[in-house]
Parts: sequence; structure tokens; C-alpha cells
Amino acid sequence: MRRVFSMVLVGMGFLTLAASSGAESPAPGDSERRFVIAIHGGGGVRPRDEMTPELEASYRAALRRSLEAGYEVLAGGGDSIDAVEAAIRVMEDSPFFNAGKGSSFNREGIVQMDASIMDGRTLDAGAVGVVQRVRNPITLARRIMDSSPHVMMADQGALEFAKAQGLTIEAPHYFYTERKWESLQRRLRQGTEYGKRPSKTARITPDSHAFGTVGAVALDARGNLAAGTSTGGREGKLHGRIGDSPIIGAGTYANNATLAVSSTGLGEHVIRVVATKTMSDLMQYEGMSVDEATRAVIGQVAEMGGSISVVAVDQDGSVTMPYSGDGMYRGFVREDGVYEVRIYEE
Ligand code: ASP
Repeated sequence: MRRVFSMVLVGMGFLTLAASSGAESPAPGDSERRFVIAIHGGGGVRPRDEMTPELEASYRAALRRSLEAGYEVLAGGGDSIDAVEAAIRVMEDSPFFNAGKGSSFNREGIVQMDASIMDGRTLDAGAVGVVQRVRNPITLARRIMDSSPHVMMADQGALEFAKAQGLTIEAPHYFYTERKWESLQRRLRQGTEYGKRPSKTARITPDSHAFGTVGAVALDARGNLAAGTSTGGREGKLHGRIGDSPIIGAGTYANNATLAVSSTGLGEHVIRVVATKTMSDLMQYEGMSVDEATRAVIGQVAEMGGSISVVAVDQDGSVTMPYSGDGMYRGFVREDGVYEVRIYEE
């Protein structure tokens, strides 16, 4: 169901958002400048029978907080790239999603995180792979974009750069969540593909523990697009494995001429179809809409036996959030305050 944020600005720009259900704001007039932010908290949703009403409310609240953070930036006239970073940081700080604090463990029981961010106006990008202990890898990706001569860094060097940049570094136990730890132990005991015989080509059904990943895409009032993605990666992955999330053109892409898009799904598939750049190319060279382009690539991945879900927005502010499987933690809010938060098919 669509709801409407009624925006109350209190004191020093502090924003609270009150929802009134059911209502639809009128579409913005020509004189109003459009902006929108859309987020995902991963395609591997908890099965419905594991989702209590309390848990569902907590997920929805976390998604809403992330939307609020992005909305606050955009409503204040800020840049889409800042809105994307702000929204993702909220999900990284939540234990509910497979990114930052809630990251999945690799096979050695270590959290190694991947993230990337891209500015559709300049095509600037920053990315980090298999980094440990950095509280907000999306901010590290942003710093790599803004304050280093590189696009992508990894592992120890990336951690050293984060420290030099003054980013918050956590002790390893900060990233420990019992649910993720128990899940890894189960996976290793079962000796599934993930634990014992990693395979690139196996048909793998996304489950709520193996996957996750968070992402955001935004269009700001100046018409600039941006996208970002952050993840703990595939649970039980080999130490040093890098997925699609930090790869520009695979997990994340933004170009003012086409779209901003963030994906979630099995990286081993997403990388090989260069998923998000292919979506952009389908719009640019084949004239597809954002919805057609994203669905075309989702179909291509499905033919490989994989599964990918995305959130995307184009220059007109059209948002699409197609997913494979049972659902995707997702939502959007636009300039008139209309927002949606969804988990399953609703
Ligand atoms: N794409 C991520 C990876 O393969 C996982 C996910 O999206 O859930 O690392």
C-alpha cells in the first residue's frame, strides 16, 4: 500500500515523517522538481513462516529509517550521491541486513565486505572489496571515489586507507550476530555447495541467510542520478571472494543518460552478464525503458540458473523494483511524500 509522508521540519532541519495510510498525493506539477530515492535490503527475504509480525515491523521500520535519511538529503536540496550514501549507512548499521553490522560470515567465520557507489552526472565511482572492520563500507567507497586516485581498493590496503581517512573502525565482534553465525555453522555442517563445493553454475535458490545486500538509487532535484550497493557477500564464501556488489557495471551503475541501479543476487551470475551496465546499454542503444531493461537482464540471469533483483530509477524519476524469488526488502519515497515499503509480493 502506498502511504504519504507528511513532512514536519523541526528546529535545526530535523525531519520527522508521519505516515497517513491510503492517501495518494497528487502528481507533482511541472513547476515542482522531481526527486526520488529507492532502496533495497536484499533479495533473500525470510520465509513467511519465519517472519513474525514483530520481526516484520522491525524490518519495515529499518527500511523506513533508511528512506527517511535519503529523503532528508534530497528534500534539503542535496545531491543524489549523498542521499544514496546516507540511506545505505542506515541499513549498514542495522543487524537485519547483510551489510555492515549484519554481514554474513565467510567460510572462515570472518566478515569481509564489498561496496560501491557511482555518480551518474560525472561517471565517477568508488568501490571496495573484501574489507574488514570498517563500520560503513559505503562511506569508504565514497572516499575512494572522492579522495583517492583510484576507483577500487581491497582488503588490508583499503582498511589502511579507511583509517587514514578517519572512518569508524570496529572490533571484529561488532559484526557478530548470532543468527548469521548459527546459519554459517548449519551451512558448513550440511556441506552444501556453499560450504564445501563452491560452484559458479549450480542452480541456487536464494535463501534468507545466503543473500542480502543493501542498495540505493536516487534522482535529485537537479536531475542527477546516483547508485550504491553494500554487502557482506555470499554466506560461506571462500576467504577473499569478491562478488558483484563492488564491481561497477555488475552490482552498481549510474549514468544520467540512462538509469541508476543497484542489484542483489548471486554475484557469480551478476558479474558474468555485467548486469547493471547491460541494463544501461539496453536503454541507451535499444531504446528500452528502465523497466524493460532491468527485466530483460533479470531474464538473462534466470536463463543461467541465477537470480537477481534490482532497484532502479531513470531520469524521469520512474522507479522499478523487479525481483526474483519470494520478495525483496524494498521501498521508495518521492518528492511529494508518497512512499512504499514492501517485503513480499503485496
Ligand atoms: N550480490 C551479493 C554477492 O554475491 C549477494 C547478494 O546480493 O545478496 O556477494
